[in-house]
Amino acid sequence: MNPRTKIKHVRALVAKGGEGGGGADYHDQGEGHWIDNHIATSMGRYPEYRQSRKSFGINVLGTLVVEIECEDGTVGFAVTTGGEPAAYLVEHHFARFLEGRDPFDYETIWDQMYFASQYYGRKGLVVNAISGVDLALWDLMGRLRGEPVYRLLGGAVRNELQFYATGARPDLAKEMGFIGGKLPLLHGPIEGDEGLKKNVAWLAEMREKCGPDFWLMYDCWMALDVHYATRLAHACQPYGLKWIEEAISPDDYWGYQQLKKQVPPGMLVTTGEHEATRWGFRMLMEMECCDLIQPDVGWCGGVTELLKISAMADARGIMVVPHGSSVYSYHFVITRHNSPFAEFLMMAPKADHVAPMFHPQLLGEPVPFNGRMNVSALDKPGFGVELNPAVKLRRPYVRN
Ligand SMILES: [Mg+2]
Repeated sequence: MNPRTKIKHVRALVAKGGEGGGGADYHDQGEGHWIDNHIATSMGRYPEYRQSRKSFGINVLGTLVVEIECEDGTVGFAVTTGGEPAAYLVEHHFARFLEGRDPFDYETIWDQMYFASQYYGRKGLVVNAISGVDLALWDLMGRLRGEPVYRLLGGAVRNELQFYATGARPDLAKEMGFIGGKLPLLHGPIEGDEGLKKNVAWLAEMREKCGPDFWLMYDCWMALDVHYATRLAHACQPYGLKWIEEAISPDDYWGYQQLKKQVPPGMLVTTGEHEATRWGFRMLMEMECCDLIQPDVGWCGGVTELLKISAMADARGIMVVPHGSSVYSYHFVITRHNSPFAEFLMMAPKADHVAPMFHPQLLGEPVPFNGRMNVSALDKPGFGVELNPAVKLRRPYVRN
């Protein structure tokens, strides 16, 4: 390994999930999985798209894999969502800002990818692709230095990570040692008062099963309006709802500002999983939209951008608890005091056991044991994972 080597080649590959698990596109699961069972969305206003998110195309993109190879043969990689359209951008637009360059120039590389695509990008798919490249660069830097990424980010501030579990069975998550459970909201405003009552009843049932101290949260996946979200928050207050997540559209900063003023005192308003870059999160924070931000490391701009977002949040006393993102989140969370715990997505179809979040795409993907993960689980170069050769990858836009 030569730490002064230059980037020789960038490759973008794609994978589709399905029955065997979705990989980084974790919504791309087989039939009967809790993650696609009548979850409230803004598409729920159309009856034909209410039962399944796959019916309106939530898994249409699939996984993006970015590989960055250096002249000395070292390869760094990362996975995120974005599939073929993101692969096109990586190969035909962003690769020019990496090939021939020092891989430690991550600030310049990020800046050039972002501003070169600003006229069509700024958020969403384009920033997913930028994030994939950025994470592959951090993996590469770690491998070149022989260090885990968390050590390149300043080192661990704690000995272990603590996790809450997202899934349909917080009662089982409690038995597995997690500190809390986040339920998907099942019924949206279109299902009226009857749906609202069912939402409250499910929380009440889980509170009964989990006891008084276990954290319970609701993830609303952008499905609600401010009025409904306010009613839901107050109706859930007697059952100790810790936070209400992504209640309304990520474009409606004014709505979040209003919601944060209207929820019961002590209940947290959280959002940001579909927000991107320092500028998007600056808006959320300056407008006082929420108490806790949830950037997805694979969607918000990667680690390079998350460092900037996190610093702004820290100065404002706002917690940063990244959405999902597996190892890309773990290596970051362990280095920051204002990221006191992490999310674990229960990818087992019935949320009844711990399975690697990006299963089956990665080898060596660490998982929590008893709701915790010791920092030693992260002590491998880069992000510490390898691509599973059993998962077929395709390179749709070969350049040479
Ligand atoms: Mg969420």
